Amino acid sequence: MSEEGFELISDEELKEEVCRVMKALYQRSLISALGGNVSARAPDAKEFWITPSGVFKGAVETDDLVKLDLEGNLIEGFLRPSIEWPLHAAIYKNRPDVNAVVHAHNPFTLGLALSGIGLKPISVEAVMVLRKVEIVPFAFPGTDKLAELVGKAASTGARALILQNHGIVAMGANLLEAEAVAETLEEVAIAQYVSMSLGKEPPTIPEKDIELYMKLYKM
Ligand SMILES: [Zn+2]
Repeated sequence: MSEEGFELISDEELKEEVCRVMKALYQRSLISALGGNVSARAPDAKEFWITPSGVFKGAVETDDLVKLDLEGNLIEGFLRPSIEWPLHAAIYKNRPDVNAVVHAHNPFTLGLALSGIGLKPISVEAVMVLRKVEIVPFAFPGTDKLAELVGKAASTGARALILQNHGIVAMGANLLEAEAVAETLEEVAIAQYVSMSLGKEPPTIPEKDIELYMKLYKM
């Protein structure tokens, strides 16, 4: 472990984790065959690995990944990078604490956002894992405008963003954290949806307990 508490991670390990997360998102129906993208970097690195464009996302392999610098220049790899690379780069530029970014199309999270319903602190995971979720207004996928809006929303310290009419962005200090944020968004959205569809207003964890969790877990 380094001083910051991060394990030193090799390019090969990073690439394997990116592929594992991509497949897991596909298996959990959080992305479609060509949707979604995942990236990761070593702590403090000015370059990152990202999934390619136009490849079946359920079977991405390490050789398919592309390494870019924060301006989008190709450093390594053969395929075209995801068209959403500017969004990933914007997050890394604005958030030195973030080393992994997951972009998925979580159907329940998006469905609630389309209905103007925000995620509530309905579970410990909702409080601990999500902490802060920002809504990003619609901009066309792959554009500099979307990257600019995402960079701005990410700079508030959010761990998750909901891209209106599009999907979600989950951020973490490593891939496991970003993956957990993407999955927790959907888990919370589904639980909240079930409760609301049965005509209930789901009870939430009281504010004072949230403060206690924060203290207990030094957040
Ligand atoms: Zn997308």
